[in-house]
Amino acid sequence: MKFQIPQSVSLNTTKMVILSILIAYLFSVGMRMIWIGEAQNVSTFFWNNALMINTNDGYYFAEGARDLLAGSHQPNDLSPITDPLAMLTAWLAKILPVSFETLLLYMPSVFGSLIVIPLVLMGRLFNQTSMGFVAALLAGIANSYYNRTMSGYYDTDMLTIVLPMFSLYFLMLAMTHQRNHFLLPITLMVALNGWWYPQSYSLNTAILVTMLLYTVVFERNNHHLYKIVLFILLGLLSLPLVLKLALALALFTLFHFQPTLDKKWFWMVFGAGFALYFATGGVDPIWNELKSYLFRDNVSETAGLHFYNVAQTVREAGHIPFTVFAERISGSTMVFVLACVGYLLALLAYRPLILTLPLVGLGFIAMSAGLRFTIYAVAPMALGFGYLLFYLIQFIEKKWLQLLTVVVFTGAALYPNYKHIQEYKNPTVLITKEVHALDQLRKRASREDYMISWWDYGYPIRYYSDVKTLVDGGKHSGDVNYPASYILTQPQTNAALMSRLSVEYTEKGFKTNQTQIIAQMFKDYKVTSADDLITTVHANPTTLPKATRNVYLYLPLRMMEILPTVALFSQLDLQNPQAQPQQPLFYASQGVEDTGKTLELDGGVVSIIKAQNMLKIGGQEVPIKGFYQVGYDNAMKLQIQEQQFASEGVNVIYLSSYGKFLILDDFYLHSTYIQLFVFEHYDPKLFEPVFLDPLTKIYKLKV
Ligand code: MN
Repeated sequence: MKFQIPQSVSLNTTKMVILSILIAYLFSVGMRMIWIGEAQNVSTFFWNNALMINTNDGYYFAEGARDLLAGSHQPNDLSPITDPLAMLTAWLAKILPVSFETLLLYMPSVFGSLIVIPLVLMGRLFNQTSMGFVAALLAGIANSYYNRTMSGYYDTDMLTIVLPMFSLYFLMLAMTHQRNHFLLPITLMVALNGWWYPQSYSLNTAILVTMLLYTVVFERNNHHLYKIVLFILLGLLSLPLVLKLALALALFTLFHFQPTLDKKWFWMVFGAGFALYFATGGVDPIWNELKSYLFRDNVSETAGLHFYNVAQTVREAGHIPFTVFAERISGSTMVFVLACVGYLLALLAYRPLILTLPLVGLGFIAMSAGLRFTIYAVAPMALGFGYLLFYLIQFIEKKWLQLLTVVVFTGAALYPNYKHIQEYKNPTVLITKEVHALDQLRKRASREDYMISWWDYGYPIRYYSDVKTLVDGGKHSGDVNYPASYILTQPQTNAALMSRLSVEYTEKGFKTNQTQIIAQMFKDYKVTSADDLITTVHANPTTLPKATRNVYLYLPLRMMEILPTVALFSQLDLQNPQAQPQQPLFYASQGVEDTGKTLELDGGVVSIIKAQNMLKIGGQEVPIKGFYQVGYDNAMKLQIQEQQFASEGVNVIYLSSYGKFLILDDFYLHSTYIQLFVFEHYDPKLFEPVFLDPLTKIYKLKV
C-alpha cells in the first residue's frame, strides 16, 4: 500500500520553497506581534521605554548577557556568562542597533519562528513543499509552541525545538540523497543542540537509537546509513563542541578522498565511536533525568539533615485531560486526531519520517509527566495534518476545488490557535513600580551585597538590582531554601541573625567548597536546630560572623499569596523526617462580601461574625484575638488601628488599601514578612528601611 501524494498538486521549485518559507515565517512572527500590540497599551509593562519580558527565567540569561556586555561580573554571583543564550544575546546586542530590552523582547519571536524552515524543507524533500508549508503555518503558532516562544518569552525554548528539527531535516536529507557531504550538517546540528540545551542529550540519544534500528530493520546492507549513525553519534559525544566538529570533518575528509576505504577500518571507527559514547557518560545522564522524574521524594537528605525537596510544581498534574493535551499540540482535538491519522499515513509514505518518532514520543510523555512536554509533538503532528490534507484532496477532480479545500481546512485548523493567541494575555514578570524599587536599590547597593528573598524573585533581583542572592530559579533545593524560608517567616531577631549567618556562610562556602551551609553552622555552633542556633548566637553576639558586606531584605506584596509555601520549607524537623509539625494558619482572601451580620471571604470560605468577634473557618468557630486595620491615608502614610478581643484565637488583618483580609495565627503575625511588610514594625536595632511603597518594601540589615 502506497500513500504517495501525486506530484502535480505540489510546487517544488526553489523559488516556491523560498517563498513558502518567507510567508510562513512572516505569518509566525506576525502572530507574535498580537501580544506586543495588546501589551503596549498597558503602561505598567514598560521599563526603559520598552516592554518587559514575561518569563522569570529570562532574567537569568539577561543577567549573563548584561555582564558579558559590561565585560565583568563578581566572583560567585552565579551570573551565567558562559550560557549559550546569554552569549548569543550579548553578541546580537553588540551588532544590532536596537536597545537591550527590545532585543530580549523580540528574540523569542525571531528565533522561535525559524521552526518553519525545517518543516518546509522536509516537505520539499518529499516533493511536497505545500504539505511542509501547511505544517509550518500550523506548527509555528500551535498553542504550546506559541506559549513558549511568544514575544517576551525570553528563554532557551526559542531554539530547543528548532535545532532538533534541523537535525532531523539533515538526517532525512542524508538518508534520501546518500552523499557524504550531507553528513557534516548532521553532526553540526546535533552538537549545536547539545551545546544550546544540554538536556537534549536524551532526545538525541533516542534519535541515534531510532536511526540505528531503522538501518538494521529496513536497510541493513546499506553502508551509507551506518555512516549517518556515526555522524549523529559524533554530535552527541560529551566532548567540546569544536572537537566534535573537528572529528566529523576529519572523518568526512577520509570518506571523501578514500571512497574505497576498507570496511574493516570503518567498523573500527564505528566501534570506537560507541566506546567513546559510553566512556564519556553513555546513558547515565538519561537515567539520572528519568530518576528525577520517576522517584521524586518530598524530603531529601543533605549532610545528615532532612530538607524539603522542591517538587517545584513541575508535576503539572499527573493526568491532564485529553482535550487539553490535544489542544496544546494542535490547537483543537479535531485537528489533533486528524493529525495523528495523517502522521501514521505519512510514516508509510515517507519512511525516513520514522526518525521523528522520538519527538512524538517525548511529546506524548506529557500525558503522564506534565504539560511542558507537549511542545515536542507539535511539529510532527503538524506534518501529519498537512499530509492528510494533501492526501485527501487528490480525490477531488477540479483544481480550483482542491485549492479551495486546502485554504478552508488550513484556515479552520489555524483558527483555534489564533484564538488562543488572542486570549493568552501573559503579563510581564514585574510591573514598572516593582522594577523601580529594584532599580533604586541598585543605585545604593554594591554588587557584592546580598538581597535575601524567596527564590521566585532571585533572577529579577540580580538583573535589576545587580546584587547577589541566596536562592534563585535554579538554586532552590531544600537546604538553600531553608534559611530563606526561616528568615522570611520567623520573628525579626531570628531573621536578622540568620540573614548574617547565611550570607557569610554562603560566601565562605564558595571558597572552602562547603555548600551545606546549615549543616556547617550546626557543626560550628554545636547545635541541632535552627532555633538553638539563634539562641546560642543571640546569647554570644561576638560569635556572629563578621559582616563582610551589606545585606538587604526584599519583601514584595506578591509574596503574600505564597507565604504558606515559603513557610513550609522551614516548618520541619531537620533531624527527623518522620515528624510532621503542625502547619501554622494563614489565609489571604481574594474577595469579600458584607452581608450585614457577617463578612464572607471568598464566598464563605471564612466568615467573620461581626457582633461576636468570632470567625467561622472550616466549620469551626474560633474567637478573633486581635483585629488590625492597615492602610494608607491620603498622604500615603501607613495608618494602623488595632483592637484586642481575646487572649486566644486567630488574628484578622484588614488591608484596606488592597481590599484584602488576612486570617493568621500568632506565628505568622510575628513573622518578619508580616511585621516588616504589613505593619512596617521594624526593630531599629536590626533593620533599617531603605525603600517603602505599597508594592515593595526593602530593608537593610543592621547586624
Ligand atoms: Mn554580579
